[in-house]
Amino acid sequence: MNIKERLHRILATIPEGVKLVAVSKFHPAEAIEEAYNAGQRIFGESRPQEMAAKAKVLPKDIEWVMIGHLQTNKVKMVAPFVSLVASVDSDRLIDEIEKQAAKNERTIDILLEVHIADEETKSGWSLSELEEYLNTGALERMEHIRVRGVMTIATNTDDEVVIRRDFKHIQTIFEELKPRFGEAFDTLSIGMSDDYPIALEYGSTMVRIGTAIFGHRIYN
Ligand SMILES: *Cc1c(COP(=O)(O)O)cnc(C)c1O
Repeated sequence: MNIKERLHRILATIPEGVKLVAVSKFHPAEAIEEAYNAGQRIFGESRPQEMAAKAKVLPKDIEWVMIGHLQTNKVKMVAPFVSLVASVDSDRLIDEIEKQAAKNERTIDILLEVHIADEETKSGWSLSELEEYLNTGALERMEHIRVRGVMTIATNTDDEVVIRRDFKHIQTIFEELKPRFGEAFDTLSIGMSDDYPIALEYGSTMVRIGTAIFGHRIYN
């Protein structure tokens, strides 16, 4: 199967209203072009340099989603064009996104990344840290940031019980946070190549799928 066929096969399994982020990290611009020509418009990248380089040569109507850990000193590389930062995991990062968005006279959408998984290495706020931050009221003062929802990566395991536990947990957090934010808080981003069908059962509104569309990544 080629990229177009894999993309269409996946789209057929995703309900209407659920967004597909095609995770193109480590894949060349040509692969993105192939998906673009098959109708895909939302692409996810994990490194700001790579995203900026691809955005430069690819069509301007692509919506670029930052899914990887974003260092504060790299925000300015993507601030002029990024459509969503899905991996916001600290108050310092929020401050910097606000600053760079203001500089570029735009509003940047973000998702709060919550750490749910068993692995210590995964990024994201712990629930207690996030609540502490939200209670400071700092986020409400950000005029160039729109909080669209939450994102998490489930524990890396074949044990479906654990994956379901993680998705249930983040779904509950999403529902609990909703009243704090306005109508724009509509995004629960869960589900990757191996677990997105389960994520859909837990109300995912935005799946992030790489390998199942583009094949295995070649790291260098
Ligand atoms: C790489 C990555 C994905 C895509 O993973 P696949 O297993 O290739 O679908 C999704 N979300 C995040 C945060 C990632 O880093």
